[in-house]
Amino acid sequence: LKKIGVLTSGGDSPGMNAAIRAVVRTGLYHGLEVFGIMRGYQGMYEDDIFSMDSRSVANIIQRGGTILKTARCKEFFEPEGRKRAFENLKKRGIEGLVIIGGDGSFRGAQKFSNEYDIPCIGVPGTIDRDMAGTEVTIGFDTAVNTAVQAIDKIRDTMDAHDRVFIVEVMGRDAGYIALHSGIATGAENILIPETKTDIEAIIHGLTEKEKRQKLVNLIVVAEGEEFGGADEVAKVVRQRLPKADVRVTVLGHIQRGGSPTCEDRLVASHMGYYAVESLLLGRKNVMVGVINNKIHYTPLDKAVKEKHKIGQEWMKIVKILAS
Ligand code: ADP
Repeated sequence: LKKIGVLTSGGDSPGMNAAIRAVVRTGLYHGLEVFGIMRGYQGMYEDDIFSMDSRSVANIIQRGGTILKTARCKEFFEPEGRKRAFENLKKRGIEGLVIIGGDGSFRGAQKFSNEYDIPCIGVPGTIDRDMAGTEVTIGFDTAVNTAVQAIDKIRDTMDAHDRVFIVEVMGRDAGYIALHSGIATGAENILIPETKTDIEAIIHGLTEKEKRQKLVNLIVVAEGEEFGGADEVAKVVRQRLPKADVRVTVLGHIQRGGSPTCEDRLVASHMGYYAVESLLLGRKNVMVGVINNKIHYTPLDKAVKEKHKIGQEWMKIVKILAS
C-alpha cells in the first residue's frame, strides 16, 4: 500500500477536520502518499483530488466543518458513476480509502468496495450517534453541548415568565441529542423517535401545573419524533391548554457547527489514526468504532444495517428526575 485517499461525505459534523488531520499525518508517518478528495464522492466522480502534505492539515484541529468539504453525490448511486470514480482513483494509483461520514456514506462505500478491489475504512462522523458498532461518533459531543448551552439560556427566560417552552433539536431518526441535552438541562419531557409519545401524560402534567398556577415546563423534542417536531407538539398543547403561554424554539444548524469539543477532537484523532493503521494491516470494508474506550472494527454492512438502541431505562429516569 503506497497511496490512500481520504474524503468527508454526507452530513458534516464538528471534528471531521481533526479526523482528516489524523489520517493525513498517520499516512505520512508511514511513508504513504495521502490524497484529499473534495466534496465526498462528488470529487471522486469529478476528479477533484489533490496530494496532501503535513502543512495542508495545519491549524485545523480546532475548526468545525470540513476543509475537504462534503456533498451528496447522486451519480455515486449508479454503477456508471462509481466506475468513473474508480477510474479516477486508479489513474493515480490510490489503493485504499478512508471515508469519514454517516451510514449513507458507508452504504456507498460498501457498494463501491464490492465492485472494485479498493479497501474502504469508514470513520463515523455524524452528530446523531446512532451507528451500530460504536459508542461514540465524531461530532455528537459538540452538537449536544451546543444544544445544552442554548437550552440553558432558554430556561432562564422560561423561568422568568412562567412559560412552556418546546425546544426542537436535531435527530430525524435518532433521539440521542434530545435525550442527552434534555437530561442535562432538566427537561420535564423528552420526545424522541425511538419511543411512542404519551401526549396525554404530558397534557395531564401541564394541566396539574396550570391548576397550581405554576406552568413552567421544558419539553425537548427531536425533529423526528412521532408528531413531527416542535411546531406540531405546540399545536396540540395550545389546543388543550388555551391559556398557556407556549413558545417554540428550533435550534437548527447551530448544532452542526462550531469548534469541536476536546472529546470530539480526541475521538477523531483516535479513529483517524486507526483507520490508516487498519488499512496497513490489510483490513477492508470495516468501520472504526470505539466501545469501552477501545477500538472496535465492525463490517460496513453490519454498521449500516443495525442501529444503536436507546434503552427504555433512560426514559424512566427522565420521568423520575423531572417530577
Ligand atoms: P450520510 O453519510 O451523512 O448518512 P447520505 O445518506 O447523504 O449521508 O450519503 C452520502 C452519499 O453517499 C450520498 O450522496 C451518495 O453519494 C452515497 N450513498 C449513499 N447511499 C448510497 C447507496 N445506497 N449506494 C451508493 N451510494 C450511496
